[in-house]
Amino acid sequence: MSSVLVTNVGELTTNDSTLGDGSMLGLIHDAALVIENGQVSWVGDRRLAPPADRAIDAGDAAVIPGFVDSHSHLVFAGDRAAEFAARMTGHPYAAGGIRTTVSATRAATDETLSINVAHLVDEMLRQGTTTVEIKSGYGLTVADELRSLAIARQFTEETTFLGAHVVPPEFVDDPAGYVELVTGSMLEAAAPYARWVDVFCERGAFDGDQARAILQAGMAAGLLPRVHANQLGPGPGVQIACEMGAASADHCTHLSKQDIEALSSSGVVATLLPAVEFSTRSVYPDARALLAAGVTVALASDCNPGSCYSSSMPLCIALAVREMRMSPGEALWAATCGGATALRRDDVGHLGVGAKGDFAVLAAPSYLHLAYRPGVPLISSAYAAGRRVA
Ligand SMILES: [Zn+2]
Repeated sequence: MSSVLVTNVGELTTNDSTLGDGSMLGLIHDAALVIENGQVSWVGDRRLAPPADRAIDAGDAAVIPGFVDSHSHLVFAGDRAAEFAARMTGHPYAAGGIRTTVSATRAATDETLSINVAHLVDEMLRQGTTTVEIKSGYGLTVADELRSLAIARQFTEETTFLGAHVVPPEFVDDPAGYVELVTGSMLEAAAPYARWVDVFCERGAFDGDQARAILQAGMAAGLLPRVHANQLGPGPGVQIACEMGAASADHCTHLSKQDIEALSSSGVVATLLPAVEFSTRSVYPDARALLAAGVTVALASDCNPGSCYSSSMPLCIALAVREMRMSPGEALWAATCGGATALRRDDVGHLGVGAKGDFAVLAAPSYLHLAYRPGVPLISSAYAAGRRVA
């Protein structure tokens, strides 16, 4: 038994609308919370806080739930800085650039890959991300997808099999053969290390029929579906995600009215990845249309070496507010509770009683500063299950 009192919290975001000001963020001023054996056991006015074994003084700063980054690709080797530079001087982004990282990843040792993931997860913790989903998808052979997921599993329970990221060069003349491999022996090897199955449903990657077959096979193997959908242009990805009961359709940059209706009626989370649009100089998703239709919106980084080499959730929040016209409150909720919903988790993304004690202390009096002061490192410390991790 051990308990920690976090006190002198100037502004506490609980994401529990039954608390504090009753808003979606459940804001409490002059707050405290108690974490017992890793879980929030009490939250409220600091003057009423019960005693605990030890105390953390937040010094009147704001405290928020740790970010839940529900979409990242951290298992890879090398980088694509030259491709980024080319893109910034006028060359468009195409899905094929993934193959560059596939060659580098296949050539890397397990140790190199593992050190790279550790480095990125640490970078995320320092920016307040305490839950991260990690996908495979740069191996694209049975052995390389298996080791990618085994390495990801050392860092998170939220691992996703993305053998269907792109058709690798050796199958370029036989995409059907590759789908057969993904849904057969690759899935069989990957399934014990994955919670989720994902597919890049996009022109240049996998079409609607292939995406359906891949998700169905994954589900038959006990994995839960999520989809890379409608990133580079309109397509069937969102409809397939809704039809198959996916937890989340990710990107959602090019949506029809029907796509928005389908997301709204199915309850599939729309996970927006605005740092991708920033890094590829593309048009942003229409977050306001999604919110107006009652769709649950999540924000995630999509951290990967090609289309977005940023692990920063505060950057995503700033972009969501500045470029997608989300309110600062909507953006913070989407980066915490929204991400948790996209991972079907109710123990993270909020700080109500019973939640995991995952939180970040800001070097600011209010969460508003996350969007108001873009590019400034505002996470002064981060805690997972009440233990300091950054
Ligand atoms: Zn992605």
